[in-house]
Amino acid sequence: MKIESLLIHGGIDGDERTGAVNVPIYQTSTYKQPKFGVNKGYEYSRTGNPTREALEKLISDLEEGYRGFAFASGMAATTAVLSLFKSGDKIIISNNLYGGTFRVIDKVFKNFEIKYKIVNTSNLEEVRKNIDERVKAIFIESPTNPLMDVTDIAEVSKIAKEFGILTIVDNTFMTPYLQKPIKLGADIVIHSATKYIGGHSDTVSGLVVVNSKELGEKVHFIQNSTGGILSPFDSFMLIKGIKTLAVRMDRHNENAKKIAEFLRDREEIEKVYYPGFKEHPGYEVQSRQAKGYGGMISFVLKEGYDYKKFFESLKIITFAESLGGVESLVCHPASMTHAAIPKEIRETIGIVDNLIRLSAGIENSDDLIEDIENALKESK
Ligand SMILES: *Cc1c(COP(=O)(O)O)cnc(C)c1O
Repeated sequence: MKIESLLIHGGIDGDERTGAVNVPIYQTSTYKQPKFGVNKGYEYSRTGNPTREALEKLISDLEEGYRGFAFASGMAATTAVLSLFKSGDKIIISNNLYGGTFRVIDKVFKNFEIKYKIVNTSNLEEVRKNIDERVKAIFIESPTNPLMDVTDIAEVSKIAKEFGILTIVDNTFMTPYLQKPIKLGADIVIHSATKYIGGHSDTVSGLVVVNSKELGEKVHFIQNSTGGILSPFDSFMLIKGIKTLAVRMDRHNENAKKIAEFLRDREEIEKVYYPGFKEHPGYEVQSRQAKGYGGMISFVLKEGYDYKKFFESLKIITFAESLGGVESLVCHPASMTHAAIPKEIRETIGIVDNLIRLSAGIENSDDLIEDIENALKESK
């Protein structure tokens, strides 16, 4: 099956017993055991639930992995994956990871003596140079949030395999419709399904897909032991969201491209970060490893323009955290998503105060561009 069909019929297609075309919401915590020591495959919903299982099979099919897992948030998913490591282990991380991922590594896992090294993973020599005997994994995002740095997933995975260590990819920005890290050689894929996978800004959720039986058993053990599972209702919501992923991503791609091109030509704009521009340093790798450039754009207002006025003048585009919903969202990374990073470090990596991040929704692109144009005029 091609991915557009797999999105709708992958995993478990409807309910065999009743013929319902949708997987029911099995809102139950426990399951009757008909005989001593006998069950029907389920004992307790932290361990397994049919609605969650349908979603877990679906995401595994979509990422072409071995097994999938659903968690109560992207951070719960990331935490479960990081729980694979033990004290003394070191992880190489990309230099502009999602702020919450950096925070959990730097503030929580560091307390368990799990070390990290920040590396510009777009530079393969840097990656190789930083692997020592304690490094057990490379954790990347591509493109990164908010500066859209692109990392060559196949090449990083190749280096990781050489050293017998894991490649972990946060695939939130791309989704399996545009990019399949496991096919490129990665071992583990993580999603904040809160974003494009759910797609409607109505569920906080996370997903993990692994490429082997061994990793599947380990992650299941962690999921069951630590308990950060996704509820049956939210699992149903994600299955529903996933059905339209292809049409949504096509429109996100299209709208982002039009908006990025519009912004590039405006006098108010200093710089546009968009991996779909030929002059973007990651353009070639992005074109090779993904089927599109995604719905995310970041841009910098020229000095003298007031970013606060820009945000406040928008009428259709919503000023809010998060991304990947059907509605367009803008945020201010320096004070919102990346506020945890000290100002000096933020500015050296490019997260300046005038930087704006836009998640292009699936509205009419003319309406979005008109909204942005008006807000730019107001920001003078
Ligand atoms: C939002 C986000 C996360 C965290 O996911 P939550 O669902 O908010 O816990 C992780 N990675 C990326 C790239 C994100 O955008």
